[in-house]
Parts: sequence; C-alpha cells; structure tokens
Amino acid sequence: MESYLKAQFILSAPLPPEANNYLSDVMERANQRFFGEGGKLGKITELKVDNNNISITIDCKGKGQPHYILFRLRKFMRTEIGKKFRVGIREIKFEEYIITLPSEVPSKEIKIPFVKKIEYKSQNACIYLDPKINLDFVEKGAIERIVGLFKTKLEMQKYGAKKEHHKIVYTSEKKDISFREDPTKIMVKLGWIRRTSYRNQWIWGPEITYLANIIKKIWLDVVYKPLEFYEMLFPKYVPFDVWKKSGHLKGLYQGSGEFYFVSPPKTRDPAFWEDLCDYYVITKEIDHNLLLSKLAPPQGGLSYAQCPPFWQFVEGKTIDIKSLPFKVYDWNGPTYRYESGGAHGLERVDELHRIETLFIGTKDQVLELGQAIRDKIKYIYETVFEIEFREVIVIPWWIEQEGRHEADLAKDIGTFDYEAYIPYKGKREDNKSWEEIQNLSIIGTKYPKAFTVKISTGEELWSGCAGGSFERAITTFIAQHGVNIDDWPEMFLKYFKDFPQSLKFC
Ligand code: ATP
Ligand code: ZN
Ligand code: MG
Repeated sequence: MESYLKAQFILSAPLPPEANNYLSDVMERANQRFFGEGGKLGKITELKVDNNNISITIDCKGKGQPHYILFRLRKFMRTEIGKKFRVGIREIKFEEYIITLPSEVPSKEIKIPFVKKIEYKSQNACIYLDPKINLDFVEKGAIERIVGLFKTKLEMQKYGAKKEHHKIVYTSEKKDISFREDPTKIMVKLGWIRRTSYRNQWIWGPEITYLANIIKKIWLDVVYKPLEFYEMLFPKYVPFDVWKKSGHLKGLYQGSGEFYFVSPPKTRDPAFWEDLCDYYVITKEIDHNLLLSKLAPPQGGLSYAQCPPFWQFVEGKTIDIKSLPFKVYDWNGPTYRYESGGAHGLERVDELHRIETLFIGTKDQVLELGQAIRDKIKYIYETVFEIEFREVIVIPWWIEQEGRHEADLAKDIGTFDYEAYIPYKGKREDNKSWEEIQNLSIIGTKYPKAFTVKISTGEELWSGCAGGSFERAITTFIAQHGVNIDDWPEMFLKYFKDFPQSLKFC
C-alpha cells in the first residue's frame, strides 16, 4: 500500500520569508524522527511557505499513514513556530489524499462515502479521498475503515460469486410424502389465517395459534425443561446503540434494508398534531409529507434478530461464575423484517413470531450446550414432527458481513441451519425446495466483548443462540403432513387434543 497526502497548515498570521530555511530544517528533523534512517516507510517530501500558509506533502509506504504523520508534525512544529515567529497553526486542510493498494478490477463499481473516485490501473486501485472529510472522523480512524471497507467490498464480490458456504452435515431419513400442496393456501381456505391490509402480515386464528402453543409445549418438554432454561422477555424496540454493538448496523446493506426503523413524534403536544388530524377529518386521508415533517429521525428499530436486546441485561457486568451457564428463551412478541415484496406465504412474513434460545457461559459450557441443543432440535424434527430435514453448516452472518469466509472462522465457532423439504416446491435435488426453519450459532466472545460482559474468574465469556419461527415450523409441518389429523405423527398428536372452534362465516 502507498499513500500520498497533500495538505496545508492554515496559520494565524503570515510567516516571514526566512521561515523557508527554518521549514527545510524542520522537514529534515521530522523525517529523521518519524521515519528514521533510510525512510523505508515514507517521507515528508515538501514543507514550505505557501502564501500565508504552510504546504506539506507526505508519501507513505506499507503501514505508514500520512495523516498521522501530519498530526504529529503539527504537534512537533506548534511550539517552535509559536516561539520563533509568533504564529499559530489554526487548522489542517487536506488538498489531496490518494491511497494505492493492490486490487483487481471489481465486477461491480465500488462506492464508499468520503471517497471522490477510485481508479484501477496496473493491478492497483487508487482511492481518492474527498479532501473535505471531517478531520474529527479522520482522527478517530475513518481512513483505516475506508480502506478496510474497500477490501471487504472487493472480497464480498469475489466470494459472493463462489457461493460455496453451504455444507450438508446431516440428512434425515427420506419419507414417502404424497402431499404436494402449498400450506398457506390450505390454511387460508380453512380460515386459520387471513392476510391483513399490511404487506406480508397475517392474522392468526385460534386453530393455528393452538398449533403454535403445541410447538411451545414440545420445546419446553424436549429442550427447555431438561436443559433448565428460563423464560425471559426481550425488548422488541431496539435502540441503535444495541445494533452498533451487535454489529447489525454494519450489515444494513446486505439485508438490503430489512430493518423497520421507528421514528418517535417530534413532540406529543396536541397543537402540533392538530393540522394533520384536521386534514384527515376533512379528507379521510393521511397527508404523508405532513406526517413525515412531524417525526423525529429514528432512534432505533423493531426487533430484527431477537437476541441482541438481551445483552442490555448483562452489559458492563461481571457475572459470578456460580450463576453460569445462563440459559434463556424468549417467545414474547414478534420481530420484524422488511422482506421482499414477492414474499407470498406464511413462511416469509414481515411480522414473524420466533422462539429465540440464548445461552452464555464459559467456552466449555457453551460448546456443550450447543451440542445438546443440536441433538434436541434434531430429535424434535425427527421424532416429534417426523419431517424430512437436513442440518447444514453455513457461514455465520457476522462473518459473511465482513466478506470473510470459512477459513476465517475460529475453531468451534459457526452456524448450523436446519432446512426442511417443502414438497410442493419441487424435487429434493433442487435446493429451492428446501427452506430454513431454524438455526443455531456458537458465537464465541463476540457479544460479551461488544457489551463488555465478564466472568468473575477472568475466563472468557462465550455465547450461543438459536432461532426458528412458528411460521416456518407450521408451514413445513403442513407442507409434509397435510391438514388431515389422522395423517399426523403419533408423538405430535400426544400434544393435540382438539382444535378450538373458530368463527363460521356465511
Ligand atoms: P432466509 O434465508 O430464509 O431469509 P434468514 O437467514 O434470513 O432466513 P435468520 O436470520 O437465520 O433467517 O433467522 C432465523 C430464523 O427466523 C429462520 O430460521 C426462520 O425460522 C425465521 N425467519 C427468518 N425470516 C423469516 C421470515 N421473514 N418469516 C418467517 N420466519 C422467518
Ligand atoms: Zn440470536
Ligand atoms: Mg432472510
């Protein structure tokens, strides 16, 4: 990597002509001090009076970063020119900042904030930074992150095209399935569910709600009671602060903006809202632009991944080793994703209801629990649901998001997806006929580090979590077994007494 910076020190008063001699002396001393003998990592190549200011150019090689040299130079000179010429350095102005690093030509144009343009020549990318970038950001590491982001985006283009992050590690027994219908259509016909006026949202009638409660009982009997999990209530509004730490904000563009952002009102003063209400009373319509003008920018969004808000419970704490492992689940309330408009059935909805399982402890405890939960999940699908499914190793979202891949995974860390066969979608050989119904991740120290949570003994705190929606579990079950109760598996029927009688329509 090579970097070139041309900048100016804006002075409080002009320097006298003899200052140039002084500046060439400073340049020599500064080069000696910052780059040492030989200047392998770079050089200040110019330091001279330029009108009322000082003009500077710096070349760096490898890890050398010219903006740091510039900040150090300012410190180095400040007192001297103050004493010698009674002149102060008011501010720094970047004029040109070019970073050159090895790069292929990307297949799709890479765009990065604070970057004016990127040119590709002789196996290199030349990144031209916008010289107007706020120096506060620069001092806090923005340039390093710009370079990091460029590399990530390049890597993601390369790696995304390979699509080899899907390894089947277990496949259940093949079943003789004769049912071939779309479960959503059947459930609509039976009156179990009905679409609302909102995109990809459904209202659940008593019958399907009863099935969801059966699934809860199964999870209690198979997973939570034997492994001693407690129920918790995770918040469903998530402030940005949590997503900053969990890393979800970083992946915004990958989820193609799947978050539901929430804007609070600017004020709750009735007078402030009067015109909007009056407009509605007269027109029976909402004036959307007027409404937008009354909202404050979002401070966060609706729960997306379900477990991140849990971490506010333990943030900044040191946990007594005696209370570990700590094992909890949450199924209180929906989470939200702005799915693609084409989502047609109950299996892909904007408002989803999920069982989220979360466990923290020492590394050994978390690995042991992860294994136990894997076994239990398989038991549920195999023995209670009697469905055809497979267990797949995939690249965890937090690794994928950084354009990293399998090789970057630390030992014992990773994500398992559980995919079920959906007969009406087609043949087993086609990956599109399989749908993710559940996942399980061993996340390691990522969350404890981000939320500064420690163990009293000083050992590393690890975490793991698992999530699966009722929507996916129920649609899969029906996709394979149909709605004729006589065809349902024996173990499942042990939980089933009778459907509640819902409304009959004429
Ligand atoms: P997909 O690739 O199908 O979109 P995902 O990778 O986005 O799934 P995760 O983020 O791993 O899903 O979410 C965990 C679980 O939440 C999934 O296994 C699934 O059971 C459920 N889930 C995710 N998105 C939806 C949705 N839109 N509707 C219903 N359930 C969902
Ligand atoms: Zn989770
Ligand atoms: Mg998804």
